[in-house]
Amino acid sequence: MKLRVAAPLTIDSIVDGPGLRMVIWAQGCKHYCRGCHNPQTHDERGGYEIDSDCIIEQIQSTKLQSGITLSGGEPFLQAEALVPIAQAAKQLGQDVWAYTGFTWGQLHALSNPQRQYQLELLNWIDILVDGRFIEHKKSAILRYKGSSNQRIIDVQASLELGYVVLHENYNRHDDHTS
Ligand code: SF4
Repeated sequence: MKLRVAAPLTIDSIVDGPGLRMVIWAQGCKHYCRGCHNPQTHDERGGYEIDSDCIIEQIQSTKLQSGITLSGGEPFLQAEALVPIAQAAKQLGQDVWAYTGFTWGQLHALSNPQRQYQLELLNWIDILVDGRFIEHKKSAILRYKGSSNQRIIDVQASLELGYVVLHENYNRHDDHTS
């Protein structure tokens, strides 16, 4: 399965989740957030294609990573290719973080050819940082997110309970405004 990416994998990231992380930069995004820090990732025809098996091999062969982070761009536009990648990371005992411009509610209401895979991808994600980047809600004190409207969601607890559960370790009580 081909995945279109914006850049080579990042190894040893310490800003895209806890620990040392491998970051996968999905190419293509339609949220067009004002002040986006990665505008080069917007064009769905940009970047280049890589086989998801190739990424899985790199996850398997790279030592000392705590987990992987799906970022972009908008990872959920390529959910089908990301499902086996997230699944492989989990099977290696790694955790999976994902960033999306969709809110949790929007992800569950989407109607498009990727819908089945978008919902399946959630099953393999531990933490989801949801929502568009809103420039006037940007703050340097926020950890692992760009603007205060974004939420750091405990995905498995949310799926189990049927409502959004914020992760207790990563959401300051005073930085969430939506
Ligand atoms: S969702 Fe992320 S990549 Fe997409 S426009 Fe917004 S900030 Fe940029």
